[in-house]
Amino acid sequence: MRILLVEDEPRLLRSLARALREEGYAVDTAADGEEGLYMAKNCDYNAVVLDVMLPRLDGWQVLEGLRQHKQTPVLMLTARDAPRDRVRGLDTGADDYLVKPFDLSELLARLRALIRRSAGQARPVLEVGEVLLDTRARLVSHKGKAVTLTPREYAILEYLALHRGEVVTRTELYEHLFDDSDDSLSNLLDVHVFSIRKKLGAELIATRRGVGYCVRA
Ligand code: CA
Repeated sequence: MRILLVEDEPRLLRSLARALREEGYAVDTAADGEEGLYMAKNCDYNAVVLDVMLPRLDGWQVLEGLRQHKQTPVLMLTARDAPRDRVRGLDTGADDYLVKPFDLSELLARLRALIRRSAGQARPVLEVGEVLLDTRARLVSHKGKAVTLTPREYAILEYLALHRGEVVTRTELYEHLFDDSDDSLSNLLDVHVFSIRKKLGAELIATRRGVGYCVRA
């Protein structure tokens, strides 16, 4: 899953980006509203975390601009806890709203829910044959037994499971799962898929040669 973070406080931006990467997300960052809007319009993010108080364009303007083009899920961050702002955020097309200071665990939970809902999956547990993915706890089990995946392996499997029945191209996986901070080793998609198959069974992920991967519906 690829996330765009738009936040002008460098320390908060860095710590959020690091926390999200540790969870297995690919993360792009923007430090002002203009850059954030440009990036959000030009790349298919799974979600945008958008601060309200930003230089150049504020969060409301970014949201309005984005909504003329895209329905990317947006989680607004604000220091102001006025009900008026909350209503304004939701009216302008924000999908969720979090007041600073917030718990990291709450941000992560809300992001997972946003991404799940935007993929048309209201239930937090995804079932693919005998494999279960609990997207809240990011836990995977196979035939009732817990299986440990690396964050990167989990991210790949979750993306394929959210799009089960569809062929997901390699380009799409790269765009949604890897960001510019990744080194070349972590970009080896085939190695990750090989490892997932070893842990969960070879038949789970089918290869469409020259195109991509598919998890059966
Ligand atoms: Ca700010």
